[in-house]
Amino acid sequence: MKHLSFIFISFTLIFCAQLRAETILAVGDDEGALELAHWLYYTPAKNADNINSVQNLDSNQWQRLTPAYNNRIGVEAFWVKFSIYNSKEIPIDRILSLANPHIDLVYLYHGVRGKLIDKIVMGDSLPFTERPVINNHFIYPFQLEPDALHTFYLKIETEGSASLPLSLSSPKSFAKDIESSSLINGFQLGALTAIGLFSLFIAISSRSFSYSYYSGYVLSVTLLVATLHGFAFRFLWPQWPLLQKYMIPFLIPTAIFFALLFTEKVLQLKYHNLHMLRLCRYSGGLAVILALVTPFLNYALALYINIITVLIVTVLLMIMAVIQALKGHKLAKLYTLAWSGMLVGSFMTSAMYLGLIELPISHLTPLILGLLFEIVFMAAVLAIRYNDERKAKLKIQQEAVIQAQHARETREQALKVEAESNEKLEKMVQERTLELEIALRELNEANQKLTEQATIDSLTGVKNRAAFDKRLLAEGRLSRRQQTPMALLMLDIDRFKSINDNYGHLAGDQTLRLIAQTLKEKLKRPGDLVSRFGGEEFAIILPNTGEEGAVQVAEQIRQTICKLPISWKNHAIPLTISIGVSTEIINRELDPTKLLDQADKALYRAKNEGRNRVMVYTESL
Ligand code: GH3
Ligand code: MG
Ligand code: MG
Repeated sequence: MKHLSFIFISFTLIFCAQLRAETILAVGDDEGALELAHWLYYTPAKNADNINSVQNLDSNQWQRLTPAYNNRIGVEAFWVKFSIYNSKEIPIDRILSLANPHIDLVYLYHGVRGKLIDKIVMGDSLPFTERPVINNHFIYPFQLEPDALHTFYLKIETEGSASLPLSLSSPKSFAKDIESSSLINGFQLGALTAIGLFSLFIAISSRSFSYSYYSGYVLSVTLLVATLHGFAFRFLWPQWPLLQKYMIPFLIPTAIFFALLFTEKVLQLKYHNLHMLRLCRYSGGLAVILALVTPFLNYALALYINIITVLIVTVLLMIMAVIQALKGHKLAKLYTLAWSGMLVGSFMTSAMYLGLIELPISHLTPLILGLLFEIVFMAAVLAIRYNDERKAKLKIQQEAVIQAQHARETREQALKVEAESNEKLEKMVQERTLELEIALRELNEANQKLTEQATIDSLTGVKNRAAFDKRLLAEGRLSRRQQTPMALLMLDIDRFKSINDNYGHLAGDQTLRLIAQTLKEKLKRPGDLVSRFGGEEFAIILPNTGEEGAVQVAEQIRQTICKLPISWKNHAIPLTISIGVSTEIINRELDPTKLLDQADKALYRAKNEGRNRVMVYTESL
């Protein structure tokens, strides 16, 4: 320790008659801060309520101050005294430092050679600006007169820890120490603030609950540490000493609250253990109640409750983490490691505050080291968790993309199949339509043929009687409309019966075919129509033909038939025909059938007059 390099001598003075010995610190050359623990004596304040009565106390009423007496919470007000002797022949400047920033009130009386020369009041229940020296610790600079005994009486009144880390330094060593301690504290608070703010920004940007809770935890712990060190009082609320009383009982449960929620997220209790999840949430609720209630309780009681809560929750979280770690959860293992730092630190600090153990270090050191370890390590755990989550999300996204692709492919395939079958169907329909069209055309042709055949006489190949009748009516209408003459020729083969009788019916049929063929060939105009009227009679319609033309045609026909070389089995068959002609312009009174009748009459006349001739119908017939 520093005081080992401190050159001092201790000697004993005999006080009064009681022969009680008091150890006095002799100060000479100095090169460091000197802890005053060995030179402190105390007496409860109930023994003496003011400085005069304290100065007059018997030395047997003073006892050596041991940490067991004061290093705990809720100590009754008490006096502490120590004496310093300047062995040098010159005055020495010294600084007295009390490194417990939470003492409510310190009344400091400075006596030289039994006479009071100074009195100051300090404490965190007074505004910060009232301190003789602006520092987060309580500082009293003074001068040690040569060859003089300086006695200090300190009345300590505090609700929190009455730990008295008093030290004496020269201005030089004080400046040196304060520089290094400021650096360490600055580093601690800077690191915590940086991690807290970093997590907060990640929480805001990623909307991650675990980072939100973690940043809440780190920032409340940072503020707690700043408050414990006295920095918060100095920089954040120097004018409100009352806040000093409320902040610690408020911040401890707040940090616990966030720690619980954060643990729940890191250990993924929602998925792994619902009992633990419920326990975490109920404990979180309890922490909120503590944060709201304990600041208004008696300070010592509030601290006791909070410290015990810290111990219980720390152990509880550790047990949960260990159970989950044993079940093989990766994050729980890392959490256990990180939390063990916090567990050890908080246990040591709590135990020191509760007076269970004594260590030659500040009460807060184990806690702050544990916290630093835990917070830094936890940041890594959180980063791993965040990365795991990101990977899991990425995997799900990739799977979704693959599935979507699959679905798209299937749909495309289905569409393709549909398109193909549509095409096939269309092709089939086209084929069927074509076939149908062909069939229809064939049917039409067949129909046409049939219709045509129905108009043809089967033996001779010229039009039959039905076709003749139809045509007669049509030509009649045309003649009437156009007022053109139409001629009708009625032909009858002369003595045809004898051909049948002499040569047989087949010869008769052959003759009929030949005559029909000849008639067809003889008629040039497309409108002319030859038909077999019945038996061996033929009728010819000559549209738009006058009597003269009709007779001419009839005569040509008669002569042609007459000259026909008809033979049957090498027997020449002589053949003539008789023709009756009738020509008229059809009018309303004159029916085309009348023309038929007239032609028939003319034919009858031709027969009667000797056959083989053309006879034109006249009224006289
Ligand atoms: P004409 O007219 O000069 O007075 O004497 P014709 O012998 O021709 O008299 P008719 O009109 O009475 O005789 C017609 C005969 O024609 C009767 C029948 O044997 C014959 N005939 C009618 N149709 C056919 C036929 O399709 N084939 C054959 N081979 N003979 C027929
Ligand atoms: Mg006849
Ligand atoms: Mg005849």
